[in-house]
Amino acid sequence: MNPPSAGREAGAPRLLILGGTLEARELAATIAAQGGFDASLSLAGRTRNPQGQPLPVRSGGFGGVEGLVEHLKAERIDALVDATHPFAAIISRNAAEAARRAGVPLLALVRPVWEQRAGDIWTAAADIPEAVGKLGDAPRRVLVTLGRNEVRALEAAPQHHYLVRSIDAVEPPLARAHARYIEARGPFAEGDERALLADNRIDAILSKNSGGAATYGKIAAARALGIEVIMVARPARPVVATVESVAAAMAWLERIRRETT
Ligand code: NAP
Repeated sequence: MNPPSAGREAGAPRLLILGGTLEARELAATIAAQGGFDASLSLAGRTRNPQGQPLPVRSGGFGGVEGLVEHLKAERIDALVDATHPFAAIISRNAAEAARRAGVPLLALVRPVWEQRAGDIWTAAADIPEAVGKLGDAPRRVLVTLGRNEVRALEAAPQHHYLVRSIDAVEPPLARAHARYIEARGPFAEGDERALLADNRIDAILSKNSGGAATYGKIAAARALGIEVIMVARPARPVVATVESVAAAMAWLERIRRETT
């Protein structure tokens, strides 16, 4: 890992990255390696043992839009990159509004969605409660890869057997539901995912359309084994300048750097 001073260059444009994703980490690593910015990374502070980061980190919520506006002003931020997860809808909305109010240029870095391919058996759901309903009435064996707070929706369908995988433990365990729990952090390889699905006789997967390579293994494994995926669509995003790759984000930042120095 880089020293805490990596990415901090006095006099360089001040950059805040909203993170909690692999993309944010990769962007932070690129900036730490290339220099040219006085940059820091913001995390929500939810994960109990967050991974080390290549840039200085601040942790915890800002206190809504007002708090973020204050932070942008107090820290004299020149540019904001929203590299949060595609399902982190509140912070993305807040970032758009706060950047507008503070007059700070904003870029969203959002990984592409997973597209359905030949052989995929997908059922679309608009949100998590709808996805749980689409499992149907008959008992099924379901791999669930939702956040530990989102899994509460499973309590509405206690007839199924759930294998719940999350980074941190689901506490308290689900009421009324037959559930087993795995704590694990990706990336997950397709071969391992196939073994997990087969060993546990899984017949459905409940997944968000997160996109990205790190958790695609289960989708490819489901295709190979003919297992249905109930796929939750992404929430709506604010309309802001958006790129899908770290390289494209760096090109945008380079333009900002030229304009502010
Ligand atoms: P959310 O519902 O959009 O945001 C809830 C609140 O958490 C925000 O209003 C903000 O608090 C705070 N927050 C969120 N991201 C923050 C950040 N990067 N820095 C500082 N504060 C932040 O977010 P979420 O879905 O709970 O996700 C929380 C974090 O986990 C995000 O950073 C996201 O990138 C990461 N993550 C989420 C998912 C997912 O599926 N949702 C998956 C992987 C990683 P204030 O209003 O007080 O500022």
